[in-house]
Amino acid sequence: MPELPEVETIRRELVRKITNKKIVNFKITKPKLIKEPSVSEFKKGVIGERVKEVSRKAKLLTIKLKEDKFLIIHLKIAGWLLYGEEDPRARAVFYLSDGKVLNYMDSRVLGELRLCKNYKDLNFIKKLGPEALDISLSKFRELLISRKAKIKVLLLDQTLISGLGNIYAQEVLFLSKINPQRAANSLSQKETRLLHGKIVSILKEAIKHKGSSVDTYRDLGGDRGGMEKRLKVYGRKDKKCYFCKRPLKKISLGGRGNCFCPHCQK
Ligand SMILES: [Zn+2]
Repeated sequence: MPELPEVETIRRELVRKITNKKIVNFKITKPKLIKEPSVSEFKKGVIGERVKEVSRKAKLLTIKLKEDKFLIIHLKIAGWLLYGEEDPRARAVFYLSDGKVLNYMDSRVLGELRLCKNYKDLNFIKKLGPEALDISLSKFRELLISRKAKIKVLLLDQTLISGLGNIYAQEVLFLSKINPQRAANSLSQKETRLLHGKIVSILKEAIKHKGSSVDTYRDLGGDRGGMEKRLKVYGRKDKKCYFCKRPLKKISLGGRGNCFCPHCQK
């Protein structure tokens, strides 16, 4: 599932490739991807518009077409975008004025496309917590101090802190040497500061390396991200811990798999 670094990678490439391009036509083979308005209104609404701005809110791409018209793309589990030639696997295709197309790819058809007046009014956007890359240390501390939830589960709760998913949440806890099962409010001031710092540094590192292609994620040119081989715990069950060389363990927390080192992560 694309997390903040993967969506930010796509956003940066979209800025270069589609800003000021006009959408001259639109085709959809899986209409259920369009959540609002109706499929015909969506189509009518995007054709003829020019891309003014490409932004991101947590894991959502928000494309401004007019002051009061935004195209919102939520890639969810397996969505990705491919710019260039039309791809036969595309679930939706935006035809652009430069003769190229933006393919919306999604093998599982679980993504969401919306056209709305203002993305800030969407309920699920209103509910998003502060972004993981921007949250201040004091705000982060406030978040943990009153909560008994397991720290790993808390980091994935998008209403508290947005943008982190299952890959980078495992990585930051490993790098901070914090056991994922600890109660959030049991972290010391020092651990909280360390964890906050690692969240920011790993997201920046992942953006620099264009994200992790652990599943279907690809960048806008269809290439894999470079972060995957830099991951220290994600998907490394039974492999040697980078710190102590003992085998990593995998447990389930809040319904998600989690690799960690029981020896190093206290
Ligand atoms: Zn270890």
